[in-house]
Amino acid sequence: TVIKQEEQQLIFIRLYNITSEKKFQILQKEFVSNASHELRTPISAIQGYCETLLGVGKNDPSIRNKFLKTIQKETLRMRALVNDMLSLFKIERFEHEVPDTSFDIKFLFEDLEQIYNDNNKQKLISFTKLKTATYTSGSYEEIRQVMTNLIENATKYGSSEKSIEVKYKKSDRYHELQVKDYGPGIHRKDIPFLTNRFYRVSSTRDKNTSSTGLGLAIVKHILKRHNAQLKIVSEIGKGSIFSVCMPNNVV
Ligand code: ADP
Repeated sequence: TVIKQEEQQLIFIRLYNITSEKKFQILQKEFVSNASHELRTPISAIQGYCETLLGVGKNDPSIRNKFLKTIQKETLRMRALVNDMLSLFKIERFEHEVPDTSFDIKFLFEDLEQIYNDNNKQKLISFTKLKTATYTSGSYEEIRQVMTNLIENATKYGSSEKSIEVKYKKSDRYHELQVKDYGPGIHRKDIPFLTNRFYRVSSTRDKNTSSTGLGLAIVKHILKRHNAQLKIVSEIGKGSIFSVCMPNNVV
């Protein structure tokens, strides 16, 4: 902009830093392309099964049953993907805003225990019983989602014989919320990538239809907003511990 003031000529130069905006646009493009790729697999499967059902399998009840079950499974998979994608989008928009609420970890553990141990279909999960109310800064709903994602992973990938342990530990600086399983463990080389969107360890990729590869990415973004950290310790053949370390300060 050029402004003439008496005999002087002033030039204003306005600078915008669009680095983060550009970065966000690139991430968004990458996300849309990954998401389309992930959705294409179940859509193609459903299309193929429908064609068979309308063609050669039309009058065969056994084929019909089997294929309809597969279509149902693929639909559930797509639903899980869409739900996780929406959660991730929502959380990413507020990633830089630290929540200004606090909640009681004792209440959170009791709430989770009721959900998981009242449901007979689930494996038994043992929870640390906190003696007194223990407040920490953060969003109750979001940390509950973090714990649910970690417990569900422990149930999905852990061993069916041994129970899962959800523990609470306190240090000077952190409230540590741990989810421990005695499953197959995770190879050291995979650990740094687990929180990347759509990352799945190849050995678990095909077995789990409810796997979207987005659960730990959601965990990472929620924790970032809380200035909290995710610690992963795992040993092949022994199991894994996923720990959420929340700063020990209440607003
Ligand atoms: P999802 O479970 O939907 O695939 P996640 O982001 O939650 O996505 O997990 C990423 C990958 O990390 C999983 O696909 C699985 O291979 C591995 N993983 C996560 N939790 C565990 C666990 N407790 N034990 C073994 N592997 C795990």
